[in-house]
Amino acid sequence: MLNNPLVQDALLNIVQEEENLDIIQCLIDGIDSDEKIAEETGIKLNIVRKILYKLYDSGVASYKRSKDPETQWYAYSWKFEEQEVSKLIKKDAEERVTELKKLVEEEENSMFFICPYNHCRLNFEEATYYGFQCPECGEEIAFHDNKDFIEQINGEIEAWEEILKDL
Ligand SMILES: [Zn+2]
Repeated sequence: MLNNPLVQDALLNIVQEEENLDIIQCLIDGIDSDEKIAEETGIKLNIVRKILYKLYDSGVASYKRSKDPETQWYAYSWKFEEQEVSKLIKKDAEERVTELKKLVEEEENSMFFICPYNHCRLNFEEATYYGFQCPECGEEIAFHDNKDFIEQINGEIEAWEEILKDL
C-alpha cells in the first residue's frame, strides 16, 4: 500500500522523512514493538518512538499496553490502522481543494503585476504601494494576465475532486 503515491504523500506529511516510511512498513509487516522496529530499520529508538506517537496522533496507528508479569514493565504493541489512511487522504484532499478555491478567488478578484526579471508578483494594492516599480530592482512592473494560472488551478481542483469521489 505504500506504493500508492496518495498514501505515500499523506503518510510522509506525518513522518516527514522518507526513511521513516520504513517504520510504517514494519508495522504493516506485523513487527509490533518499537525496539524490534528500531532493530529492523536501523533508525534510532527515540526517533522510532517519536514517529509512532505521531502516527498515533494522526489516527493511523494504535497501541495496546500490557504489563510483563515478570519484570512489571509495560510493553507496547503497535498496530497500523490501514482503514484510517483513506480518511486521512480524504481530509488532506479536502483541505487542498479548499486552499485552491481560496487561491482562485484571490486570483479572480485582484490584478497582478510582475517584474520583467521575475523578482516579484504583486497585487494591485502592493503594486500601488511600490509605485508600480519592482521593490528589488526598481524596474517598472507590468500587468500580468492570470487567466492561464486560474485555469491551471481549476484543473487541479477538478483533479482533486475526481480523487475525492473514489475515497
Ligand atoms: Zn525586479
